Amino acid sequence: MVEQKMLALGKKSSVIREIFEYGKRRKAEIGAENVFDFSLGNPSIPAPQAVTDALLEMVQNTDPVALHGYTSAPGDLGVRKAIAEHINKNFGVAAAPERIYMTCGAAASLTVTLNALVNDGEEVVVLAPFFPEYRVFAEKAGAKVVVVPCRESDFQIDFDKLSAAITEKTKAIIVNSPNNPTGVVLSAETVKALADLLNEKQKAFSTDIFLIADEPYRELSYDMQVPYLPCYYDNTVVCYSYSKSLSLPGERIGYIFVAPNVSDGNDVFAAVCGAGRALGFVCAPSLLQYVVGKCVDVPSDIEAYRRNRDLLYTALCEDGFTVIKPDGAFYLFMKSPEPDANAFCERAKKHELLLVPSDDFGFPGYVRISYCVSEDTIRRSLPAFKSLAAEYLK
Ligand code: PLP
Repeated sequence: MVEQKMLALGKKSSVIREIFEYGKRRKAEIGAENVFDFSLGNPSIPAPQAVTDALLEMVQNTDPVALHGYTSAPGDLGVRKAIAEHINKNFGVAAAPERIYMTCGAAASLTVTLNALVNDGEEVVVLAPFFPEYRVFAEKAGAKVVVVPCRESDFQIDFDKLSAAITEKTKAIIVNSPNNPTGVVLSAETVKALADLLNEKQKAFSTDIFLIADEPYRELSYDMQVPYLPCYYDNTVVCYSYSKSLSLPGERIGYIFVAPNVSDGNDVFAAVCGAGRALGFVCAPSLLQYVVGKCVDVPSDIEAYRRNRDLLYTALCEDGFTVIKPDGAFYLFMKSPEPDANAFCERAKKHELLLVPSDDFGFPGYVRISYCVSEDTIRRSLPAFKSLAAEYLK
């Protein structure tokens, strides 16, 4: 008999993946150009030229045995130094390479960090709506997941609810800004208030409460500065990924950074190394480590996402939908015009629009529209959104 929880997880893929798979079948039936697939956060912007150049340079001019060999378990020291310098220069945080652990993207960063921090039965707070895999990762690490809904008016943190949810068992809170699925960026004021609340709670309970900053979208902010959480709160662990910032989601590369003032930080980092080892996440792909090491300062090209956001947001508002204007990432959160977002998504499918219902994000009644598609797809999808809206306005 296999492990029952893993069996259940394996048998039921995520709703996002199910819709994505449906989209593939539908495209084969009626042609890719006739399906408006807004399901997955797979960037449509190609990786920057600097990434291609670095890849070619590494492959053509480096000793292949060294290039493809194992690095040390937490990653190549030179790469970790380059990342630490980048953090130092951009955020004024004294980052040491010895506190950086290279991983296979944010998913690995999160699962390793949660396993490193959480003892069985401790609580991990997530702010709804949240990336559905948080629950999978946290529960596998032995945590009880505590869901705290954001304010529906602007999807910022509801501090009264958060304060009430934090107990002596709270080990960590996961924060994701810019956010998937809302696109909301937490302001410096909000982050400061969050830090104050967590400091107060740590004092009241004499515990450590860790802030896990899930940062795959850090670079994808249109106008706002995204506050760097280690500058505000000592017990911060950053889970970074190059999946979206450098359009490399399939290459699986990112890192964990245990901030300098984390309490017992050396032990936290050692536990990260231990969790990486126990989970089999040692030595992230070496070629990709070297490539990102050379590209730490390469800016993300977000203008195409901004154009898509503006086009779609304006059109959907004109159609009469209620939409949260995204500050960043490449998702748009739209209220379902009927209470059951699943039923709305089924209706959208009839117009060949593939949207994701928000139930698995812990905040029912909305849909997520992933607009990291081509501008042409957005333009051609607008009449379909208009007809969909008309069905509800009738
Ligand atoms: N966290 C959030 C909020 C995400 O949206 C994603 C991916 O879409 C991840 C983590 C996982 O990212 P990665 O592909 O780097 O593992």
